[in-house]
Amino acid sequence: MRGMTKKKLKKWSLKDSTELYQISKWGEGYFGLNAEGDLCVIPQKNIEGPKINIREVIEEAKKENLGFPLVMRFHDILRDRIRDLNQSFLNIIKEAEYKGDYYGVYPIKVNQLREVVEEIVEAGSDYNYGLEAGSKPELMAVLAYNTNPTALTILNGYKDYQYMKLAMLGTKLGRKMIIVIEKFSELQQVLEISEDLDVEPMIGVRAKLSSKASGKWAESSGDFAKFGLSIPQIVQMVEVLKKHNKLHMLKLFHFHVGSQIPDIRTLKECLIEGAHIFVHLKKLGAPIEYFDAGGGVGISYDGSLSSEGSSTNYTLKEYIADVVYNLKEICDINNVDHPNIVTETGRAMAAHHSFVVTNVFGEISLQAQDNLDIAENPKDHRILKNMKALLRDLDFGNYYDTYHDASLFKAESTSAFKLGVLDLLERSQIENIYWAICQKIINLTLNTDNVPDVVKSLKKELASKYLCNFSLFQSLPDSWAIDQVFPIVPISHHNQKPDIHCTLADITCDSDGKVTHFIGKDQDESSLLLHSRPLNQDYYLGIFLTGAYQDVMGDMHNLFGRLNEVHVYCDDEDPNDFYIEEIIRGHSAGEVLEIMQYDKTEMNRLIKQQVDKKIKSGDIKPRIGVKLTDFYEESLNSYTYLDSKR
Ligand SMILES: *Cc1c(COP(=O)(O)O)cnc(C)c1O
Repeated sequence: MRGMTKKKLKKWSLKDSTELYQISKWGEGYFGLNAEGDLCVIPQKNIEGPKINIREVIEEAKKENLGFPLVMRFHDILRDRIRDLNQSFLNIIKEAEYKGDYYGVYPIKVNQLREVVEEIVEAGSDYNYGLEAGSKPELMAVLAYNTNPTALTILNGYKDYQYMKLAMLGTKLGRKMIIVIEKFSELQQVLEISEDLDVEPMIGVRAKLSSKASGKWAESSGDFAKFGLSIPQIVQMVEVLKKHNKLHMLKLFHFHVGSQIPDIRTLKECLIEGAHIFVHLKKLGAPIEYFDAGGGVGISYDGSLSSEGSSTNYTLKEYIADVVYNLKEICDINNVDHPNIVTETGRAMAAHHSFVVTNVFGEISLQAQDNLDIAENPKDHRILKNMKALLRDLDFGNYYDTYHDASLFKAESTSAFKLGVLDLLERSQIENIYWAICQKIINLTLNTDNVPDVVKSLKKELASKYLCNFSLFQSLPDSWAIDQVFPIVPISHHNQKPDIHCTLADITCDSDGKVTHFIGKDQDESSLLLHSRPLNQDYYLGIFLTGAYQDVMGDMHNLFGRLNEVHVYCDDEDPNDFYIEEIIRGHSAGEVLEIMQYDKTEMNRLIKQQVDKKIKSGDIKPRIGVKLTDFYEESLNSYTYLDSKR
């Protein structure tokens, strides 16, 4: 008992908050709290270095008239990721006395935003870090932006004549373009076009591995995968190339077995299988110089180091060491020269650098009323009498039985109401007491471990819904599509103890537009502990790790468009350690409508026409009419999300 009192009296600390929201675990050192309880970005992972208070970035964005939700993009984090990957490869290659070099590429499908691609190309220029494309538009982007003649441009995905011709344009420009053969017929195509244009591009081959990947993308591997050549096809490819005297074009061996691979063993098994195929191809005479292990390196979305759900049981450095050492060993045993190493790590490069800030603008909760009358009253109906007694007698010793009895009485009261035995007031009293019982059970078991399942589901049912100004379908598609869990953390108030169990609802008119899985001590929690909404003050939440795939896969459900965005750079000289380098305004209502074939001018004209009619008939005064048409036009030019201003 004394222990409990002590626990209650203990002041909430920053450490408690860091633990609750697992900030140091999923944050990779890029996020932390300051003494005022604000969440900060630490772009260089160095506590002594610049520390950017997200609340101050919010204030500056507001001065620029930017509404929420708002994407914040930290280019310094992106640079740090690219540097970390390349430098780690260099270090381990040196340590292992590996003879080849590292030529990584960034697969732009992970986030194709021009500023992101430009930043990555620049950050990687010292390392000859290149780009990967998987479609024609992506190829056109990498052709224009990957100008380093030593860095690779790797071309995956299904290809047509135009795609191949664009690739050969790159070859003519002196770039290291590698066309990866994903299906057998592409080989014939490459050979024909190469002859037509009199260009000899480098080609690669993607293998289907039999090692099965685990995780959400398991289907990308195995004999029935969508991409890649089977072993007999690869052997045949070598024969065809030999027959045409073109075997010298085959420069790269590639495999890619899926994304966010949770278990390092899977990656290792694929690597070992791939390395053996590679050494045999070398023995068949293929002059392959590059060994491309694809992407798939996962990140820890939920902060745990487990091989389940939304996490990984390895670090980026462990993965790199596995690639280098295993490849070296297999090459050495087979007396084959060490090839240059390529990886197409995407998610692990881009996920951390951007996040979404949303404001909580409302709340829905199923709360019992205060001042419930639970005194005995001889006039009460039997069910009401029993329900009152249950609440009066409820304590820790009987909560389980009480819950079952209360549920039964509640069901009975509904039937009795339908039969006309109970009136509306009686039913309302019974339901109120029922919710009070549920709430009290949750309070009674707050400090108890291993509560029964019914209490867990009660917690979920009674959790408040915080209404957040964003669209799940635009900003967090993987939460909806594949149940990916993302860290969601308040931007401030970390000095205060959070006191409300919440789930989140977005502003789309879709009942799927909600978040009900959160990171937590049990890895996957059905509610998130947040603060009661402060009076007269905005309460902001950050949705993190959205830089990979989320930014670009979002859709326009309910016509909520692209988000406002700020690009933040750190600057040690600045009093706040940062400056906003660029602002990209999100879609206006008119822009989103134009994508759907509406015409803004025509819409304004139609509204004016209808208002004019009403003016003519005397229903609207001319002065008011002008204001109304102006207001409509202004609204077409404003942000699609909720505006907190009047
Ligand atoms: C998607 C993809 C990648 C990137 O995978 P990540 O899991 O994001 O690292 C790499 N290579 C190919 C061929 C891809 O399709």
